Amino acid sequence: GGRRRCRRLEGEAARAVLGAADTLLFDCDGVLWRGEAALGGAAAALGRLAAAGKRLCYVTNNSSRTRQAYGEKLRRLGFPPATPRHVFGSAYCAARFLRQALPPGAAAYVLGGPALAAELREAGVPHLEPGPAALPGPAPADWARAPLDPAVRAVLVGFDEHFSYAKLCQALRYLLRGPDCLLVATNRDHRLPLEGGAAIPGTGCLVKAVETAAEREAFIVGKPNRYMFDCVASEFDIDPARTIMVGDRLDTDILMGNTCGLTTLLTLTGVTTLEELEGLWKSQKTSHFSWVTWK
Ligand code: PLP
Ligand code: CA
Repeated sequence: GGRRRCRRLEGEAARAVLGAADTLLFDCDGVLWRGEAALGGAAAALGRLAAAGKRLCYVTNNSSRTRQAYGEKLRRLGFPPATPRHVFGSAYCAARFLRQALPPGAAAYVLGGPALAAELREAGVPHLEPGPAALPGPAPADWARAPLDPAVRAVLVGFDEHFSYAKLCQALRYLLRGPDCLLVATNRDHRLPLEGGAAIPGTGCLVKAVETAAEREAFIVGKPNRYMFDCVASEFDIDPARTIMVGDRLDTDILMGNTCGLTTLLTLTGVTTLEELEGLWKSQKTSHFSWVTWK
């Protein structure tokens, strides 16, 4: 779309924007917490919003926890009580997507951790348990003879600490079956920032490896794609005009919010910095966000 209004939100203006909303969607890492530590003021702010009768939902690209586990983390860190139904993690949303997209009885080959497997189980999607790929011989060329499950009709890529060349081989062999085998990934975040400028590789790196091998593009469940918002909108009565997306990244959270016609609020507590924002503002490249708060 065209250029939208971008402004610092505080005081009366903040009250007006929040007052007009009945639902807020919160990104998690960088907005509510950083790793295991709640961000200052976040729990109290959400407590006030909940007390004012707002519906609070949580949308996170992190596929390494179930919606149940996010509910427990929110409680542990002092956020208002959230039922798992209000949590839309990329593991849950990916399982939901496959439940809808796969024919009955079809299974998924999963590059991911136990949370992804748990959400697939919960959604009733058959899947090969994550773990090391079975290796029929010592050399990679032998691995092309590893058994394939005839029921597999999708490869699902999420955060996988045990990603390996052997798993990449298996994924490619399933995908070589052709377009009848879907390639689905939880998200493209390619770096997970840690304290003090440190970082570790994100799921996007693993997705790229599979896409490169298979010579095709994955369907991405997470932000900035709208599928995650569509999940929220199909499970709750959502009016986009009365919904605010709160995030720390322009290229994922705010982009999804704008794509879906939501009011967007950037917190400047995570990935996107004030310096970046000012640079974009000066070069007039601010078309993909509408509201910001700076702290
Ligand atoms: N993916 C993984 C594996 C992560 O650990 C994180 C953040 O911790 C993310 C994605 C980003 O999550 P969010 O969408 O909540 O910022
Ligand atoms: Ca984030």
